[in-house]
Amino acid sequence: MLTNNLGYPRIGSNRELKKACEQYWSGKTSQQELLQIGKQIRLHNWRLQKDAGIDLIPSNDFSFYDQVLDMSLTVGAIPSQYNKIILNGHNTELDLYFGMARGYQRDELDITALEMTKWFDTNYHYIVPEFYNNQQFSFFSRKIVDEFYEAKQAGILTKPVLIGPVSYLLLGKEKEEGFHRIELLKNLLPVYFEILTELKSNGVEWVQFDEPFLCLDLSEAEQDAYKKVYSEIKRRFPGIHVQVATYFEGLKDQTRLACSLPIDALHIDLSKDPGQLDQVLDILPDQMSLSLGLVDGRNIWKNNFNDSLKQIQHAVDKIGNQRVIMAASCSLLHSPCDLELETNEHILTSEVKQWLAFAKQKIDEIVTLSKLAEGSKDESLKRKLEDNQAAMESRKTSDLIHDKTVKKETKEVQNADFKRNSPFSIRKEKQTELLNLPLFPTTTIGSFPQTSEIRKQRALFKKGSIDIEEYEQALKFETEKTIRWQEEIDLDVLVHGEFERNDMVEYFGEQLNGFVFTKNGWVQSYGSRCVKPPIIYGDVSRSKAMTVKWTQYAQSLTSRLVKGMLTGPVTILQWSFVRDDQPRSVTCNQIALAIREEVKDLEDVGIRIIQIDEPAIREGLPLRKADWQNYLQWAIKAFRVASTGVEDETQIHTHMCYSEFNDIIHNIAEMDADVITIECSRSKMELLDAFTSFEYPQQIGPGVYDIHSPRIPLEAEMVDLLMKAKKVIQPEQLWVNPDCGLKTRNWDETKKALAEMVNAAKSMRLSEVKPMTV
Ligand code: GLN
Ligand code: ZN
Repeated sequence: MLTNNLGYPRIGSNRELKKACEQYWSGKTSQQELLQIGKQIRLHNWRLQKDAGIDLIPSNDFSFYDQVLDMSLTVGAIPSQYNKIILNGHNTELDLYFGMARGYQRDELDITALEMTKWFDTNYHYIVPEFYNNQQFSFFSRKIVDEFYEAKQAGILTKPVLIGPVSYLLLGKEKEEGFHRIELLKNLLPVYFEILTELKSNGVEWVQFDEPFLCLDLSEAEQDAYKKVYSEIKRRFPGIHVQVATYFEGLKDQTRLACSLPIDALHIDLSKDPGQLDQVLDILPDQMSLSLGLVDGRNIWKNNFNDSLKQIQHAVDKIGNQRVIMAASCSLLHSPCDLELETNEHILTSEVKQWLAFAKQKIDEIVTLSKLAEGSKDESLKRKLEDNQAAMESRKTSDLIHDKTVKKETKEVQNADFKRNSPFSIRKEKQTELLNLPLFPTTTIGSFPQTSEIRKQRALFKKGSIDIEEYEQALKFETEKTIRWQEEIDLDVLVHGEFERNDMVEYFGEQLNGFVFTKNGWVQSYGSRCVKPPIIYGDVSRSKAMTVKWTQYAQSLTSRLVKGMLTGPVTILQWSFVRDDQPRSVTCNQIALAIREEVKDLEDVGIRIIQIDEPAIREGLPLRKADWQNYLQWAIKAFRVASTGVEDETQIHTHMCYSEFNDIIHNIAEMDADVITIECSRSKMELLDAFTSFEYPQQIGPGVYDIHSPRIPLEAEMVDLLMKAKKVIQPEQLWVNPDCGLKTRNWDETKKALAEMVNAAKSMRLSEVKPMTV
């Protein structure tokens, strides 16, 4: 039984790559030094996998920024504006590469970066390839061959990983009208042949083609493309073992197509869809091996060996030991590197740690499972199996995880319908009377600039260099400054600024039961940016108020309304590693109940407006459309559990960035928030199209300026946008706000931009004043 790995984290166990890239970008180190770090990481990863006993070790899974961008450079898909970077004599391919990834502002050039978007339903972001009519491709970057050769020199024969041609095209975007990108296949495929020819002449045995799209909804042309690509490859390269890797979904209706491809091995994600095993085994052709993606590649839980061994045995019974390959569900890119680095008992206790496995540990699981399945009687393996069983048993019964009260309350949620006391029309009347806001009320999304001073204070506090009083003094100072300043520029609904939070999920996770954090559990999000998601390991509950103190403090400073600021249950879930021993919907409901209590506490101390941020609702949508309604049902219910425990007079806001939700606008309305603030400015209010055909009942703040850019918007531009919005939304429904939190901006930009925004709202009010009739 071969052991197979689809990809290994490339950031380095101590984020060496992040640091090296950022040093290089800031001009502190040479390109040579950066290349050296890359090489060290690759060799380290290959050796680690080789020593652990992996047979099919990936190469070309390393990347200085993103594997999709690597692919674009490999096939020469370089939009013309970037050519100028390389024409400039002193620049190298790597400068071009980083220019495409991050933009290029030097040598009198000013080129923006390529667009970035989410990699399927993960939190990883890739650089979107751009395609033009009848685009020509060429074998441009030789990275894949170089890295294969590099490993070979080190005595390791690797399996190069490529994004398959169909998925590569589907990942991109047409930048011109009049064609579909899949039509470019005929131009693209010859470049893949060139790559394979080179690899072949260097002695390659296995090649892995990542084709996650094979699990998604496909058109007929796309299905045909799959057939064409892999039969052509088989015809031209009969000597290369081709592995097609699918992940993040089950093959479902595409099982037949996948099994009809003339390939040597098919990889399936059994962690996401264990049910597909039987369907695939039933029709797997004799010459094809099956790679069982049993070890979860995108979560941090130990594999349940007993369960996996049963599935492996089942596959072996059907197709024989020779054709079964053991693997993780997807690339380990989405797992933190190494659990052994978590040595601080205060952060991650050994009780929780025994349930976890990071990338390095998952590699060991793959090998151990294959050996156990082959019937090895080795003593150390027997012990590993026993330890695994013990860990599974303790997870099932641990008091740390299981809280009877929480379980009972969550059950009750399942059966109840969560609603506000009155429908929106009645709430609106009561709120209008109580809140007494002008037309086009102005507000912000929550955070204000987190200056280096604040970050420094937080770091000092965490290190223990300053005590809590001193830290809180600094926070109070910033909060008061922010309140005064918001009063001065005449905003209507104020916020406290979120200075006490470093991250909108971590802040809540740290205070809720059922969460733990790691010291070093970093996962690449994009480029050099890494995130350290909290781990939800147990039943979630709230032991004390989490935000009341700071909100109340801010409110005590002003006679204007201060908005309470919470993160919603779906977003907390979506941006964490979530326990896999119960449905995600159940965990989400538990978080929702905790937020519901917080909402009530805020109401009790007199906070009249409470915002529950849900920026991640959209990205939680399943990959297959058929599964959308089920997800939306529980996600929206969770929001309602969190938000409906208040009186009619209390106004509930929600906020969503990434609001491409034209197709789910009905569901957004069902959330029944009194006000929703959304991102809108980049698309020049295009997002409001959804509101033309659907009469959105509640109030809306379409963001009138882009906080992701340092540019100061002008009053007139924002008035323009608001006039556009007014065409599809009634003036009484409109709020005026930026499109996201301001924490990444500086004070100077923020002050100027918000002053312009308040003026824009004021001109809008003037334009609404009806001339007096005598
Ligand atoms: N309230 C949060 C903030 O202002 C919202 C952030 C977000 O939507 N991502 O920072
Ligand atoms: Zn936002």
